[in-house]
Formats: sequence, structure tokens, C-alpha cells
Amino acid sequence: MSKFFSDKYKNLIPYVPGEQPKIGKIVKLNTNESPFPPSKTAIKIASEKAESLNLYSDPELSELTALTAKTLDVKKEQVIMTNGSDEILNFLFMAYCDEKTPAIFPNISYGFYKVFAEINNLPYKEIPLREDFSVAVDDYINENGTVFIANPNAPTGIYLPLNEIERLVSSNPNRIVVIDEAYIDFGGESAVKLLDKYDNLVVTQTFSKSRSMAGARLGFGVASKEIISDLMSIKYSTNPYNVNSMTAGAGIGALTDDEYFKQNCKKIIENREWTKNRLNELGFETLPSKANFLFAKNDKISGKTLYEKLKERGVLVRHFDKERIKEYNRITIGSHEQMQIFIDSVKSILES
Ligand code: PMP
Repeated sequence: MSKFFSDKYKNLIPYVPGEQPKIGKIVKLNTNESPFPPSKTAIKIASEKAESLNLYSDPELSELTALTAKTLDVKKEQVIMTNGSDEILNFLFMAYCDEKTPAIFPNISYGFYKVFAEINNLPYKEIPLREDFSVAVDDYINENGTVFIANPNAPTGIYLPLNEIERLVSSNPNRIVVIDEAYIDFGGESAVKLLDKYDNLVVTQTFSKSRSMAGARLGFGVASKEIISDLMSIKYSTNPYNVNSMTAGAGIGALTDDEYFKQNCKKIIENREWTKNRLNELGFETLPSKANFLFAKNDKISGKTLYEKLKERGVLVRHFDKERIKEYNRITIGSHEQMQIFIDSVKSILES
């Protein structure tokens, strides 16, 4: 740290992304990416857009926003496109939390929530998950602040049914509830359909997982048009060209190629259930997942040892050194071939 770094950032602990190894042939199951390439239409439109990179991207992202809105069956004034869903989440912390309105989120959830609160110098409260790692909606009902819930949650994969989300949103119309649906396409039901009824609800989603575009950085928020107008003010005050032209083009292509998207989600769900069954046969305990990953532990081997031994065999999963979850590993669901290699590696580790 230089001596010039502002005091306000001196204690900042940045978010630690999963490893992105540069070399070798590894089975990469550590950052919840899709094993499938982006849709061909996405690649085609992105390359066409590369021809005009001398020009700034469209700050209004008109075509992409309209197509996203159409896909979700909402009005285009209800959508804001962002640089990954991380950007919309940061905007939401900036827009709807302050000294009087803390951010409230589960103590085991997406690690970035805490970092967004810290970097924006905002108060926050973490609410423990239940013993079975599910979110207890009752614990949030009387909390005053802006609530952030990942659904399905990460790194557990546990999904909160829509009636529980509705109970949370309807319990207090005077506070914002953000539902982070980064993993919703792998078996959950989106809260977007509740937007007609509740003007205190914000839903965020991403193209990084189910639409195979993690490297393009594209996400979005959906809410009332008044909330979107607040968020647009933040966007135009930080980075008006927040989504680059190639990414916007890829997004349009991905949304157009709906069949490919559906097929890929179906394959991931099948591979998840297959992997879960194999892990259970090997004595693992797996949490019920509606995401593109499994959270699993085995009493015969510590979470850290399994992570390390898998890494030695060229299989990368994610391990979190946090007290309550340190015996678990989070395993991204890849192609069937990748999951077979993963299971074979686990077997050989347990037998050695
Ligand atoms: N929310 C959750 C729960 C996540 O796990 C992630 C991915 N790390 C994100 C949001 C952000 O994803 P992206 O910025 O790639 O859209």
C-alpha cells in the first residue's frame, strides 16, 4: 500500500475471485462458468460490432435493453443493463443504503456484498443462515434496511421458493429487497413475475452463467421504472458506456438463440443430478442445489485436503476457509466428460 492511499480504503479487504489459471490442461470447476461456448449468434454479432470499436458504445443500449425486456415480459423502462451483475449490485448498494439504511444479507452468501458495503462505507448486518444453511425469511421481516438475497444462494446452491420471496418483499413495502438471481436459470422460478405487484423489489440477473458469457461482463437489473431511473442516474454518474459494443452485440445474439440457452441449462441440470448421485454414493453430503454448482463434504476427508488433492490431479474446485463451511467444497457443474473426470479423481483420492 502506498502512503497516499486514502484512509477510507486502508482497511478494505477486496473480494477474492476464484483462480483463473493460465497454463495446462485443467478441469476448471471453480468459478461457476459455463462449460459451453457462447452461442454462435452471440459470437457473430460481437465480431461484427468489433468493426466499429472506434466509436463509443450506445449509452442507452436501446436494442439490448428492449430485447432483454421482451424476454422477461416487462417494459424496457424497467431494465438497466450493466457490466456484469456485479455492477448493478454495486449501484444498488450506492443507491439504497446509507447511514440510516444498512445493507442486510445472510452471513453465508456472495462474498462481494460485504465488499460493496465496505467500499461504499455503508453499515451492514449479516444474518446467520439456519442450521441447514437455508435462509430464514422470518429473521428479515423486522429488519430495517436494504435486503440482499442471492436466490439460489451461493455457495450453498439452496433455493428459496417464490412464496417465501414474496413473504419477504410484501412484509415491508417501505424497504428495498434485492433478489440476486445469478443462478436462477438452473431450476428456480424468477421473482421477475412479482414486479407487477411490488414496487420495492429489484431482481438482478447475469449472462455469465446460463448464457456462457462470463468473459463478456453483462448483467442487468429489473424493477419499477422509478427505481431504474435512480439506477440510471448512478450509471450516468460513474460510467455511461458501461457495456461495450461487442458485449452488447453478444448479448443480443445470446437472447436471440433461446433454444441453445435452454438446451445448455437442461444439460447442466442433468449433469448436476448425475454428479450429486455419484457424490452421495461416495459418502458425500450434498446440499440441495438449484444452481450450476454443488456444495459437498465428506467426513472421510477434510474440505481443504480434498481441494488440494484435486488440484494436484488438475481438477480445480472452490474451497472457502470460513469456519462453518470449511469442510465443504463448491463444485461447478461442467460437461459430462468433466464431471466424469472429477468423480474419477475423487474416487482415487478416497481410495489412496
Ligand atoms: N451474484 C452471485 C451470487 C454470484 O455468484 C456472482 C458471480 N461471482 C455474481 C452475482 C456476479 O456475476 P457477474 O458479475 O459475472 O454477473
